[in-house]
Amino acid sequence: MNEAALRLGSVTRSFGTGADAVTALDSVTLTIPKGTFTAVMGPSGSGKSTLLQCAAGLDRPTSGAVMLGDTDLTKLGETRLTRLRRDRIGFVFQAFNLLPSLTAEQNVALPLRLAGRRPKRAAVLDVLERVGLRDRAGHRPSELSGGQQQRVALARALVTRPEVLFGDEPTGALDSRTGAEVLALLRDMVDRGQTVIMVTHDPVAASYADRVLFLADGRVRDELYSPAADQIAARMTRSAVAPC
Ligand code: ADP
Ligand code: MG
Repeated sequence: MNEAALRLGSVTRSFGTGADAVTALDSVTLTIPKGTFTAVMGPSGSGKSTLLQCAAGLDRPTSGAVMLGDTDLTKLGETRLTRLRRDRIGFVFQAFNLLPSLTAEQNVALPLRLAGRRPKRAAVLDVLERVGLRDRAGHRPSELSGGQQQRVALARALVTRPEVLFGDEPTGALDSRTGAEVLALLRDMVDRGQTVIMVTHDPVAASYADRVLFLADGRVRDELYSPAADQIAARMTRSAVAPC
């Protein structure tokens, strides 16, 4: 098996205390090998977003370890965690979260500017080329379609060459055709060595992944390798009816 890009060891995340306490993640242990595409599925409230946020250093587990390569995120103070997120992790959201007043090129360059680096124009345009938007570099988000905006967000997430790219329903706001374009891009990036972890509700989207994890009540209840969409849909029904 490949080297691990990310490892979670008994990760628990609880919210609140006493009678109001919610265990969003319940002692989750898993390994994500480098250069693989993982989809995370499960009913609403099953802990998908919490899993992603803890794995990406956007949230802190109540207990357990999150290893990005050799670094345990849970051991880092705020400043170092912020720097790690900036330098080693990419994130795309369902809402593209682009800055409306900036062009595509400026949006993509932003993470480099925030890191105090002087972005090289050629490097920024190169990433835009990879998502098929080299010729839209000067456009603002309002001048782009939803699919194009998500591709700019993808370019922005990739410009720092993150070890792991996370997506929380990155195709949730797209129609199926533009969603398929974004998924094909993600698949292509994985085939070139990128590690991707994506939350989705859509069996077709999940079928682009190498592995699907099914969450229920904050635990990984099931998984499928090299899944087909109909197989995923069948497994979703089964785990909803009879969690194992
Ligand atoms: P999913 O993304 O699968 O819909 P979440 O990870 O968002 O699930 O949430 C899992 C559980 O944790 C839910 O019961 C949710 O209400 C709870 N939860 C998530 N974030 C918070 C929070 N900040 N405060 C309190 N409860 C939360
Ligand atoms: Mg969620």
